[in-house]
Amino acid sequence: MLSRRTVLAAGLCLPGAARAKEKARADSAFRGFIEALRPDAAARGVTPQTFDAAFRGIDAPDAAVLARTRRQSEFVRPVWDYLVGAVSGGRLARGLARAAALAPTLRAIEGRYGVPGPVILAIWGVESDFGASAGDVSTIRALATLAAAGHRGALFRDELLAALTILQRGDVTPKQMRGSWAGAMGQVQFLPSTYLAHAVDFDDDGHRDIWTSPADSLGSIAAYLKDLGWDPALSWGYEVRLPEGFDLTRYGGDLSAFTERGVRRADGGPLPPRGRASLFLPGGVGAPAFLITDNFEVIRGYNTSDSYALAVGHLADRLGGGSTLAAPWPTAPGLDPSSLRKLQVGLASAGFYDGPTDGRAGPKLREAVRRYQISTGLPADGYATPGLLAHVESRPTPRP
Ligand code: CA
Repeated sequence: MLSRRTVLAAGLCLPGAARAKEKARADSAFRGFIEALRPDAAARGVTPQTFDAAFRGIDAPDAAVLARTRRQSEFVRPVWDYLVGAVSGGRLARGLARAAALAPTLRAIEGRYGVPGPVILAIWGVESDFGASAGDVSTIRALATLAAAGHRGALFRDELLAALTILQRGDVTPKQMRGSWAGAMGQVQFLPSTYLAHAVDFDDDGHRDIWTSPADSLGSIAAYLKDLGWDPALSWGYEVRLPEGFDLTRYGGDLSAFTERGVRRADGGPLPPRGRASLFLPGGVGAPAFLITDNFEVIRGYNTSDSYALAVGHLADRLGGGSTLAAPWPTAPGLDPSSLRKLQVGLASAGFYDGPTDGRAGPKLREAVRRYQISTGLPADGYATPGLLAHVESRPTPRP
């Protein structure tokens, strides 16, 4: 397997002759990796003709793709920065225009899959700005680059084989099969395996076209959310106001119980009488507070970032006529990924956390932070701050 270092070195500042030699070696290893795929592709029914057409003109890895693996904005930026970009005035206006133009299609999709139109539109908006920026990177080349470098184990090799299967079925040509640097395709940014399992031909023309058909794109988003378990009876969540002295240690339960405890929607509307929810304080106490339902987790099934799910939920509310968030965001940032990693290590050694050390905030780390806060008498908002990290790191080392 071609190492990521070898591939990167091809694009770095070595002296001219050494660089050319290194690049030739990396390109040759890349072509070897592709040739070695043939038997697995054939086992999936991919013909030699399809295989050759897929890789025509692709004889070197894409250095820009590997460079991008180091950044992923929804995990790096504070949630409020991410929200400002994802739910901008321009995006809202474009979304409302698309909603008007596609109203009959959206109604039909809502009827078939039970997912609200504004949620479908919001995902389309965040993924590709409603189809306007679906990404122009060759999916085959991006996946081959990541797979050859062994990025994330076998994941991208499997996705590359899935992409070849899609080409074999004839839904799209290799030239049309484009998307992001990470192999997410078209207007809905599905990985090939997600496409094979969930994409639909909503406009009934015989092709599942998430590259040029808004109807297929919207229908595919809705079908995927339904398959992930979207509950048509619930919203994704609500911004809420907590009463004075609210007990943060009781942060999960029935919506009706939250109502009994004095929690109110920030926009004054009623909370539904049924369904479970949990309190989510992505900026800590005093910042916007949310009650999130299982549908929030469904959105996280599309993209595991909390910031992403919140942006989709809020954009959906705004597209449906809802107002801006009521509470202000904090001005001080939370923890960046490297500090989050330190927090994960610290909470793990203290026995509160057993998830991955990946520098990503999510339900599991939030739960660990809350349990730590409860055990040490801190306000249990689940929010990871520099102060919390310092608190964890200043704990006396437990005896073996
Ligand atoms: Ca179609």
